[in-house]
Amino acid sequence: MINSKQAQQLTKTIEAYQKIIIAKHIAPDWDAQGSALGLKEIILANFPKKEVYVVGKVFNSDKNFVDEEKLNPEIIAQALLITVDVANFERIDFTFKNDVKEVFKIDHHLEVDDFASHKLVDDKAIACTQVIVQWAQACNLQVNKDAATNLYFGLITDSGRFLYNKTNQETFNCASFLMDCGINLQEIYDKLYLKKLDVEKWLHHAFGMAVFDTAYPIAYIKITLADWKDHNITEEEVKRAVSVLSGIRDIEIWFIAYESLETEKIKVSLRSRHYEINRVAVKHNGGGHMLASGAKLNNFEEIENLMVDLRKLVDNKL
Ligand code: AMP
Repeated sequence: MINSKQAQQLTKTIEAYQKIIIAKHIAPDWDAQGSALGLKEIILANFPKKEVYVVGKVFNSDKNFVDEEKLNPEIIAQALLITVDVANFERIDFTFKNDVKEVFKIDHHLEVDDFASHKLVDDKAIACTQVIVQWAQACNLQVNKDAATNLYFGLITDSGRFLYNKTNQETFNCASFLMDCGINLQEIYDKLYLKKLDVEKWLHHAFGMAVFDTAYPIAYIKITLADWKDHNITEEEVKRAVSVLSGIRDIEIWFIAYESLETEKIKVSLRSRHYEINRVAVKHNGGGHMLASGAKLNNFEEIENLMVDLRKLVDNKL
């Protein structure tokens, strides 16, 4: 549950600024983007005179939000920057994040970097959009269909369709609230879940590349650029390969390590059903949630170091 003082503080801070920039984490997902766009809609619907800019990359695209083109140094210097779904200052997808007047953090990650002057953080929330919905409810703010649709994108994807551990009564309350705001479930699910044949082919291929540890319930897929570049898929679609190792009784920790064009490093998406894998992720240039974390490696040889730490985690020796 969100802290009501923090929620009131967010409204007060928004009221105090004319110019508001909303930034999310690099390589955004539906939760990051849904939080940013949903928040923008809520601010504009309730405070119509504000200027609100969403910045950074558009999900699944190499383009930035057009709002960013309207910014200049003068606007940035007077602006409130609201960050959504990002725990570390360095991962905020906004070049001029150091030049704003004030930063307000809205998040649902475990707190590792207290970079903002104020915050609204609930690390028990399954999605950042859940935090934003609860803020709107707490402050009696109007939420239109567009805002609700964006917020639902985050709620349904970060909860794995209400499947993951942190899904709770509050998650369903938020979903119910968003339905009251007029969202169209069929449209949302068609947009999210209708599959592309190329992606399905890739996922089957990826499963065939999996390495299963013989002594520990750990599996991973090593994905080089050559493995994925001819599959006609985006980097986000490459990353979906992590899901092919989930839901298997014998595998309790799993990850993919893939060569990324975005960061020129090896990105790791690490998952578990019950081990605190974020403790391993922070040791390998990463972080995230207890059961879903990310990390970065300099080369594929470092997979072995990661495996050493994961085995220690299983043995309770980390
Ligand atoms: P991903 O595997 O990219 O879906 O990330 C899982 C979770 O870990 C998300 O909440 C990310 O925000 C977080 N995460 C991913 N990579 C990093 C990183 N390098 N540092 C900190 N957090 C990360």
